[in-house]
Amino acid sequence: MRPLLTKGDTIMYDHRRLGRELDLFDGDPLMGAGLPFWLPDGAAVRMALEDYVRDVERRNGYRHVYSPIMGKRELYEISGHWDHYRDDMYPPMAVGGEQVVLRPSLCPHHALIYRARGRSYRDLPLRLAELGGMYRSELSGVLGGLTRVRAIQLNDAHIFCTAEQAVEEARAALELIAAAHAAMGIKPVRHRLSLPGASGKYVAVPGLWERAGEMLREVLHDVEYEAVEGEAAFYGPKIDIQIADNLGRESTLSTVQIDLYQPARFDLEYTGPDGARHRPVMVHRSIVGSVERAVAHLIEVHGGAFPAWLAPVQAVVLPLGEDEVAFADSVVSRCAGLGLRAELAGPEKGSLGARIREARLAPYQLIIGSREVAAGEVSIRLRDGRKLAALPVGEALARIGEITSRRESGLW
Ligand SMILES: [Zn+2]
Repeated sequence: MRPLLTKGDTIMYDHRRLGRELDLFDGDPLMGAGLPFWLPDGAAVRMALEDYVRDVERRNGYRHVYSPIMGKRELYEISGHWDHYRDDMYPPMAVGGEQVVLRPSLCPHHALIYRARGRSYRDLPLRLAELGGMYRSELSGVLGGLTRVRAIQLNDAHIFCTAEQAVEEARAALELIAAAHAAMGIKPVRHRLSLPGASGKYVAVPGLWERAGEMLREVLHDVEYEAVEGEAAFYGPKIDIQIADNLGRESTLSTVQIDLYQPARFDLEYTGPDGARHRPVMVHRSIVGSVERAVAHLIEVHGGAFPAWLAPVQAVVLPLGEDEVAFADSVVSRCAGLGLRAELAGPEKGSLGARIREARLAPYQLIIGSREVAAGEVSIRLRDGRKLAALPVGEALARIGEITSRRESGLW
């Protein structure tokens, strides 16, 4: 796998080429530009990432919801998308006398879910999370691979809280983001405080930008960041965690926003301890951004050698000869039973050396000769070339299961 470009000591790969070579994703002109599909190995990586995100969210007090990928045009008129973001949206579809559009974001749906029940200060912060679809009408000229797509699966959440809770909630979200990047082996290039610019796309509400901007500066108190004008969302400033691709082009992976606009547009409220109605603040946050962009970046950073918990095939089982195939098969089954992704590479696939080279991206190669069969053991070869002493099968698989379920970055 030839790297495209070397930046300092970091080798970066082209995710589009590697994605096809490694059978992770592809596309078909009949599905359309910017609408890639995920092959089984790519789907395994994506699912491991989605499972991680949902797991982290559950452990940190988020509640998951599901909402539809489309809504009435009026919904986006209220949210402000129709006025400020229409160029990126698909045209409305006429259905039964109504106009329905594919959603450009999940925020309006979550605002309606919040509003669907009476809320008291005791319910706050209410953290609603969803891994959901959203759609962007990108021009076909800019589409490619997983980084510019027309259908996006977003790891999104909206925290409805009091104004006093907002900074702390946003700060906690930044910590989840940092932990996720560490687990994924990703090093962001910088934190950006994205402020409004001179164009007319930003909502004009007196005091809103200053107040939300102040809160975000407080969130970033101990973090090095760069303030950039013209990069805010139309409804508020945001913290963007920037990554760079193999050509050094920056894009945003994770975001945290403090929104004082949509709560007012949707007339959201909660009952305070004083019995009066108050307006909550909406903290928007995404830990890994869109799964498409996150996986594209993982491919480029790791060159296909994903951290063990994300690897499409975590263990390749290698019997030396025909006599060991049955035992090797049973090891593959035991892996599957433990939730590990394992594959058999039998002697019909060539010499052991050739099979080891073929399996070089798998974090664990489990080698089985007659001695291992007799002892009920496996010899382990790690992706980095280390060879471990033979271990009883149960012990070896339990250790691998522990490393992957804890999403450890090391192999052993
Ligand atoms: Zn949002």
